[in-house]
Amino acid sequence: MSTQLTGAENVRWNLNELFAGVNDPQIDVVLKESQTQAEAFVEAYRGKLGGLTPEGLAEAYNTLESISGPLYRLGQYIHLLYAVDTADDQIKSTLAKIEQSSSTTSNLLVFFGLELGNLSDEQFAKFDGAAALADFAYKIAKLRRNARYNLSEKEEQIINLKDLNGSSAHQKLYNELVASFSFEFELDGEVQTLNGDQLRALRQHPDADVRQRAMKLFFSRYEENALIINHLYNALVKDHGIEVDLRGYESPISTMNSHNDLSDQAIQALNDVTTESYSLVNRYYKLKAKMLGMKEMTLADIYAPLPQASKVYPFEEAKKLVLDGFKSFDDDFHAKAKAMFDENRIDAPVEPTKRGGAFCSSSTPDLKPYVLLNYTGKVRDVSTMAHELGHAIHAMFSSEQKLMNYHPILPLAETASIFSEMVLTDSLLKKEEDVEVKKSMLTGKLEDIFASSHRQNMFSSFELASHAAINDRLQSPKELCELYTVEIQKMFGDSVTFTAEYAWEWSSIPHIFNVPFYVYAYNFGNLLVLALYQQYLEEGDSFKPKYKKFLSLGSSASPADITAVVGADINDPDFWRKSLKYIESLIDQLEELV
Ligand SMILES: [Zn+2]
Repeated sequence: MSTQLTGAENVRWNLNELFAGVNDPQIDVVLKESQTQAEAFVEAYRGKLGGLTPEGLAEAYNTLESISGPLYRLGQYIHLLYAVDTADDQIKSTLAKIEQSSSTTSNLLVFFGLELGNLSDEQFAKFDGAAALADFAYKIAKLRRNARYNLSEKEEQIINLKDLNGSSAHQKLYNELVASFSFEFELDGEVQTLNGDQLRALRQHPDADVRQRAMKLFFSRYEENALIINHLYNALVKDHGIEVDLRGYESPISTMNSHNDLSDQAIQALNDVTTESYSLVNRYYKLKAKMLGMKEMTLADIYAPLPQASKVYPFEEAKKLVLDGFKSFDDDFHAKAKAMFDENRIDAPVEPTKRGGAFCSSSTPDLKPYVLLNYTGKVRDVSTMAHELGHAIHAMFSSEQKLMNYHPILPLAETASIFSEMVLTDSLLKKEEDVEVKKSMLTGKLEDIFASSHRQNMFSSFELASHAAINDRLQSPKELCELYTVEIQKMFGDSVTFTAEYAWEWSSIPHIFNVPFYVYAYNFGNLLVLALYQQYLEEGDSFKPKYKKFLSLGSSASPADITAVVGADINDPDFWRKSLKYIESLIDQLEELV
């Protein structure tokens, strides 16, 4: 946290268009009205969806939106209040009240999707392709498609009940076990007690000995608990495999693919292309070893800090750089970003009781979003500003959609944000004269890319291999470590030295225990944007109208159909290869500077 003044101190958002304050009597009115409306909705529609005309179903959808809209705005409001003051008791108790009441209301409405998904083909036929339902066509089609994997109501109930003491209990045990790990670590001449996050954060310590000792100790605890952790992973994977069979999915990863509405083919192409580009990782880390002046780099050193350019950007300067970057790309992007500043939709300072990090929040299409920052003036903060404004721009483009199609679908949610960062990076790199600042920007960008793409791809390759192996027969800790070692060596090649404790890294990745095959979404989102950006560099101005159309679609169509708007085919490996071209261009620039 910087004590230096940046001018961000007075940049606060104004939330008055939402509610008048935590005591606003409108809050209770909204909660009460939405509950009453939801009850009336249940009364009117439960058990009756099959008998509706297409117009009648469209009306039901519109009613649903009018119940959800005010709740979304209220939820947004209280979360924004809480974000800037996490210590205020009144805000906390109001937040709890709102969450409680909203979840009661939304539980009442859960029947709608289930009932619609389970209609017989005869009952459903009249809705299929009906003009009155055009706005909801994609959501309905997806619902129907996924309903085919549902089991009978009784079976679903049994699974839910048994999961409480089965997979959910296993996940809980894993999370509680690893959260309980504490470590005695010698740092600066004294022994300190650290938790896992604190110990792992030492990967960014300037001293190589500290980094290597820290990671050795970290993984040793996982190895000591191998008996439990290995049992848990085997049980979770096997449980997943059993459901895959019962529900009739093609393969273990198909469950997530169908949830994301992405074809198995697209995700295979993504995995193949990322794997074939591991040579870029290899090239970068050889370069990094040179920059660090290390003869031999180990896996514990991959996050070692590089000499940082210490330049501080006052808030106004950052705002200008970001807006100029948008301006150089497109006037609409610039105007939308500028409105965020002009209309006081940004909360920028670091405050003692404010939450950390940054986010963009949007609730309903008729309102513009809000952005929270913790601005300290580092070059990284300038990127974050561009990133969050990118989310805001995306929301403003998709504001022509109905509420149900307003929020971007998960695999596309980072499209405009990362794209905006790249617009900024390119415009800064062109202007910047200082070699150290340029190096900082390039290494920062490249390490972000490798962390969110290649590393996640390595995890998901391990998931593919370990699910196949465990579904065949239970695996020993040693066997899983061997599978993981293969993946890690594929990724880094001879650029860093493999140390034995890293074979246990798989057992420290919560996502692969908690949500199988979740991690590829990071890689998908990231490489998609790099590929689109490369396409923009190749096509120039003619790319922009297509890209705006893409952003304006919100979640009204499948990821494949939305990306097709810019002429991209996510099933084609050649589309993904465009992203590699861009990464390579960054490494080329860095190589020249080193
Ligand atoms: Zn983001």
